[in-house]
Amino acid sequence: MRTAVIVGGGIGGLTAALTLRECGWDVTVLEQAPELSEIGAGIQIAPNATRVLLALGLREALERVAVTPLDQVRRRWSDGEVIASMPMGDELEERYGAPYWQFHRGDLFRVLLDACRDPDAEGGTIRILTSFPVVAAENEGAGAAAIAEDGRRVSGDLLIGADGLRSAVRTSVGFPGELRREKEISYRALIPRAVLEADPETEWITHHPTNTLWYGPGAHGVHFFIRGGETLCLVVQKHGTDPRLDDAPSALVSRDEFVATVPGWTPRLVSLLQKAGDDVLLQPLLHRAPDDDWVRGRIVLLGDAAHAMLPYQGQGGSQAIEDAGALATELEGPGADDIGAALERYRAQRAPIAAELQRASLVNKHFLHLPDGPEQRARDALLRHRFEGDGGVTFDWMWSH
Ligand SMILES: Cc1cc2nc3c(=O)[nH]c(=O)nc-3n(C[C@H](O)[C@H](O)[C@H](O)COP(=O)(O)OP(=O)(O)OC[C@H]3O[C@@H](n4cnc5c(N)ncnc54)[C@H](O)[C@@H]3O)c2cc1C
Repeated sequence: MRTAVIVGGGIGGLTAALTLRECGWDVTVLEQAPELSEIGAGIQIAPNATRVLLALGLREALERVAVTPLDQVRRRWSDGEVIASMPMGDELEERYGAPYWQFHRGDLFRVLLDACRDPDAEGGTIRILTSFPVVAAENEGAGAAAIAEDGRRVSGDLLIGADGLRSAVRTSVGFPGELRREKEISYRALIPRAVLEADPETEWITHHPTNTLWYGPGAHGVHFFIRGGETLCLVVQKHGTDPRLDDAPSALVSRDEFVATVPGWTPRLVSLLQKAGDDVLLQPLLHRAPDDDWVRGRIVLLGDAAHAMLPYQGQGGSQAIEDAGALATELEGPGADDIGAALERYRAQRAPIAAELQRASLVNKHFLHLPDGPEQRARDALLRHRFEGDGGVTFDWMWSH
């Protein structure tokens, strides 16, 4: 039986554990945290990734917690005018052969974790070791090993660095590239449906499961329902910095601060922000310049460790899942006995796609945040007239892989 060590039990790491187990691999996942969990926020998972999750047989479990938006609506900051809207729902699933789903991260994570722990699963096995902070990865003989802070060592035929933005695997192996701060920050709040229904000013939002984007000067807003429609995930992403993020990966901020992120915006949106609690999650948005240097011997990168991107195409998590599908396909198909060659095929296939999305996400930093003026009017005209994607990539290209 072939063995893989996966460093990082996030969305990418757990999906890779599942796809490799299906191909008969024995997998060990090493996670630094004492318990496996995800932050309390929403995540949108697009057809290029739900396709992988469906192939893993997870449709039923995921449908219990997902929300499928019926449409995506783009609105103007000042008066809420609908600039454009696009049907999603069944029409989108028919077109791409897989749905567009919105989740609470914890719900998606729980489904992946339960599947990892399924005692009846066929193929190989999955073992998960928590409180295992990996500090180094190294090639050894015909395989590779992960080494923990306290010297513990786990070896396999293959080592996958799925340890996110600040990947220790990436650093210790010496892959090039620095994390970049774009002076963009994100605020995320979760609001119970009952709170929105109780106020005539916000009750409208509960009528229809829409995925909404707000375009404004220097900031954009996003909201969508999760948890089977019981919770609204409300996000504002804007240009700026915050000293609380100098030494910490995130901070919790007040409702008043959240509302202050959109000064002068329409009451239609502001009234939603006013329903947040005093536990709005503030994070810096970090990314890397695209590169295709993801493989050293039997060590390979996946997800944010390989291609951290701004969330301005909503694709970072979906790309991690797509990586997991592609890697297993290469390790299962013809010629898979040569693990080195399979890793090279994975890299050659995935790196150009991820690079394009890293680039397109950066373009959107500008596109989403235009001040009112000629450029904004040209953008809105484009959105109105048969909008097929932004940042130089089309939905068709992004969602069909
Ligand atoms: C504001 C915001 C909104 C976003 N919205 C979306 C969206 O709607 N759709 C989407 O697809 N993507 C979205 N993303 C991107 C998405 O969150 C990430 O791309 C995704 O979580 C990457 O998954 P990953 O498994 O590669 O890394 P992570 O989720 O970061 O998981 C890494 C795991 O590795 C563990 N780890 C780290 N270091 C070590 C170590 N040294 N040893 C052992 N374990 C370690 C961590 O504890 C963690 O469990 C968003 C990101 C942000 C910031």
